[in-house]
Amino acid sequence: MQNIEWEKLPFGYFKTDYNVRSYYRDGNWGEIEVSSSEYINIHMAATCLHYGQEAFEGMKAYRGSDNKIRLFRWKDNAARMRESSKGILMAQMPDELFYEMVTKAVRLNEKYVPPFGHGAALYIRPLLIGTGVQVGVNPAKEYLFMVFVGPVGPYFKEGFNPVTIQIVRDIDRAAPLGTGHIKVGGNYAGSLRASERAKAEGFAAVLFLEAKEKKYIDEAGPANFFAIKGNKYITPKSDSILPSITNKSLMQLAQDMGLEVERRPVAVEELAGFDEVGACGTAAIISPIKKIVDRDTQKVYEFCKDGKAGPVSEQLYNKLQAIQYGKEEDKHGWVTLLD
Ligand SMILES: *Cc1c(COP(=O)(O)O)cnc(C)c1O
Repeated sequence: MQNIEWEKLPFGYFKTDYNVRSYYRDGNWGEIEVSSSEYINIHMAATCLHYGQEAFEGMKAYRGSDNKIRLFRWKDNAARMRESSKGILMAQMPDELFYEMVTKAVRLNEKYVPPFGHGAALYIRPLLIGTGVQVGVNPAKEYLFMVFVGPVGPYFKEGFNPVTIQIVRDIDRAAPLGTGHIKVGGNYAGSLRASERAKAEGFAAVLFLEAKEKKYIDEAGPANFFAIKGNKYITPKSDSILPSITNKSLMQLAQDMGLEVERRPVAVEELAGFDEVGACGTAAIISPIKKIVDRDTQKVYEFCKDGKAGPVSEQLYNKLQAIQYGKEEDKHGWVTLLD
């Protein structure tokens, strides 16, 4: 293994030594298989290739100052994966198998878990696909669940520096009663057009609106949206956003810090009155947002005028990272130590 420059890691694919797999056949999950191949061999008529039977998760393993490896709220990821499975009629993973495979993938690649103090972590990608053969539109009878991992640095190259995003109305991420609330690849395919265009126009991400009325804020690209206004932590409530575990944790920490938490529809015009806004998710934890440009009206909303993240966002970020890296007491029982 080459020497890894932990500070310089991008957020991207990194080849490690092993991945783990389990096949679902005849109504049962099979033995966990360890593989050192980066490839999978599947039938050309597998449902994941034609009809989008694919769901994934994103988690991180953090190495603390005590050198121990920590998983964060893995049960929530396992539960969410089952929700995704239910949503597109795939086989569901029991908690135990999910945990066993995630921890196995981490342990087998332990040398790739970044040492404490570089802001890096081991990204964990669990993945579930329909492998059964169908040509007519039907759910598969066979599935493959696999977990691969790789060390990552910060998601945005700006790190914890504020980003600029764009409001769009001519492309929706998810339909009101569609699949926006589950973590399926199809949602991402549908959002690529908007996100690539935003990048080409100089923005870090898209701020999608609720598709029916286009009045309310839904999601900040692949992350949840939140705002700070005075003593309030405000985040959208919508049936078409993905329930972020990071957001759920930030809501709890905000409450612990004495903030009032509001989860409700958030109208676009409210942006003008917010003190701080940000995007949150496992990849970036928090990305502070400094500017939001409405692509249709050219209206500009600006935050963090001094160019830095707002004080509440920063406090929330530090608090959550401190728990994840084991620097602060885990009062809510979110952390699982790998022994
Ligand atoms: C994964 C994801 C998030 C973030 O969820 P976390 O559990 O916090 O990582 C937010 N929005 C979308 C669309 C996602 O796919």
